[in-house]
Amino acid sequence: MTRRSPRHRAVLGLAPALAVRAVIAFAVSAPAFAPVMAGELGPAPRGEDGRFENPAGPLVQAGPLVTLPFFMRRAGGAFRSDRDAPGVVANDGAFLRENARHSRPTVTWIGHATLLVQMGHVSFLTDPTWSSTASPVPFAGPRRFVEPGLALEDLPAIDFVLISHNHYDHLDLGTLRRLAERSSDTVFYVPLENGALLRGAGVENVRELDWGQSVRHGAVQVHCLPSQHWSRRGIFDGQRALWASWAVVADDRRFYFAGDTGYFDGFADIGGELGPFDLAALPIGAYEPVAMMRFSHLDPEEAVRAGVDLRARRQLAIHFGTFDLSDEPLAEPPRRFRGAGRAAGIATEDIWVLRIGETREF
Ligand code: ZN
Ligand code: ZN
Repeated sequence: MTRRSPRHRAVLGLAPALAVRAVIAFAVSAPAFAPVMAGELGPAPRGEDGRFENPAGPLVQAGPLVTLPFFMRRAGGAFRSDRDAPGVVANDGAFLRENARHSRPTVTWIGHATLLVQMGHVSFLTDPTWSSTASPVPFAGPRRFVEPGLALEDLPAIDFVLISHNHYDHLDLGTLRRLAERSSDTVFYVPLENGALLRGAGVENVRELDWGQSVRHGAVQVHCLPSQHWSRRGIFDGQRALWASWAVVADDRRFYFAGDTGYFDGFADIGGELGPFDLAALPIGAYEPVAMMRFSHLDPEEAVRAGVDLRARRQLAIHFGTFDLSDEPLAEPPRRFRGAGRAAGIATEDIWVLRIGETREF
């Protein structure tokens, strides 16, 4: 046994206390990012070339006889009427800024897949996009029919942002940059391999998660979960970055955000593991032409079925009426969504179609 000087022993005696203080100091100054993996919901499957895959295998692609006319119709989209676009309600954000401290559970539809959610004393955004087109350039690409329901400047302090995948109608770098400039405390949660895109745009506070991983953020647990979709930002980067859905769980509320997805078995798995949800936000638009969309998007009937699988008490329609993305008439998705809810025996007040800018407590 080695002999130690009294001074040495004193230092050794202090060591545990110092270690504890160092851990506390680290935890306070820089919350450790340590996502935990639980259950059977991940990891996301990857091929030998590193590209991500869907659990059901490759999505069936429509041929050029479907896709070419579709892209030509989209190119002519500037002439499409916005007559049946969703209604708008004025929202100056005053209640939401005040509520950030009291945190009555609320959801606000800002448009498309962009929601502001408040629960468990946090405020967060899903797939925030404030841009006038959903494309790499502002002068072309799918046009916005309805302005965002809340000005970005009027938002409450945003604790975190959830990104579902890298398509331009969901991952809008201009908006993310503005949010990061507004507060360096805002954390951007993204599925695996999306971080570099954000960092390249100057958004530094990014955390990547795999399916099945979750992380504590304040009083809520943030879960990265499967979806059935695909990704592409440029020409050769298909499936290089993961796509995902998300759940946020507080003591008193459970919220699910489907992002962009086709119908798949994963909804029942997620509902079994993390449900029942108080509110599930489900995409109900961009389902025509069916041959092109059916494996990567939900139609309104499938959205309701997904909500039932998720064990969602209330279903909220998103991803329709905001951008000119697909062929179905603008008024059709919410009408079919309400009808599908009735057919499934769900009470009318639990099938939510908000106006853009509307806030509702859940
Ligand atoms: Zn997409
Ligand atoms: Zn989309």
